[in-house]
Amino acid sequence: MLNKTWAMALHGGAGAVAGRDYAETEHHLERLAADCRTRLEDDAPALDVVELAVRELESCGLYVAGRGSAPNSAGHVELDASIMDGRTREAGAVAALRDFASPVSVARRVMQKTPHVLLAGPGAAAFARREGFTEVADPTNWYRLPVGVTIEDVDGFAHGTVGAVALDTSGALAAATSTGGTFGKLEGRVGDTPLIGPGTWADDDIAISCTGIGEHIIRSGGAAAIAFRFRSGLALGDAVDEMLDEVARLGGDGGIIAVTRSGEIAMHYNSQGMKRASASSSTDPVVRTFEN
Ligand code: ASP
Repeated sequence: MLNKTWAMALHGGAGAVAGRDYAETEHHLERLAADCRTRLEDDAPALDVVELAVRELESCGLYVAGRGSAPNSAGHVELDASIMDGRTREAGAVAALRDFASPVSVARRVMQKTPHVLLAGPGAAAFARREGFTEVADPTNWYRLPVGVTIEDVDGFAHGTVGAVALDTSGALAAATSTGGTFGKLEGRVGDTPLIGPGTWADDDIAISCTGIGEHIIRSGGAAAIAFRFRSGLALGDAVDEMLDEVARLGGDGGIIAVTRSGEIAMHYNSQGMKRASASSSTDPVVRTFEN
């Protein structure tokens, strides 16, 4: 029998707070990882798998992305998402998009249907509308507080994101990330998540999705800085840790999921916890929030 290599990892954000109960998100990540596993074993393209995974993470309302997003300081939910195909280096993203149910799918459509990489604000919404994406008809009742986030956090600096990375059986890599951003952010604030380079990266060697306070991730170089370190010969874990150390040096914290062309997986964080799951053709499934 052909020995098929595939690998994937998911994150539900590095904003997990020690001592809170994440059993519901862990069960959800476990089921979603099992679904991704089935698809990858059936030779589904990595790009489809990461989009589907992030769409589910957005629509379930359990994480700070899509339905679980919180309003900015002006009272509006603004969503950021991006997706990248490692084989072609094509990428698409949306930033400060208001009230669409699947930002990651709008991002993929930007990649497929426009000559651009990133559409923002009202222009992104007009594009999503023209493309027939589902608008949130009743924002007040649609958005919900995600698991592990309390009403007090909404006034603090709570944050969260979702992401997926995958290597498919053809050897292609892809990454996708989506977020509601930091709670109470200024209107129009855009973090790392929709930025190809800082928040999301995929090439022929590696696929990466970041989470953490976007300002620090952007200033550290983010996902692309890991990819460049990896390409220049650093081991995967060291490349990830060097970038996270840089985030810490700048005063932040965060988390990374990455898969490589050989099927190696890294899920590292220097925050209190990161909701995460992984599976591959050569390793046992992992689902955790705390303990590195
Ligand atoms: N990176 C996201 C942002 O700054 C938040 C997060 O990952 O928790 O918008």
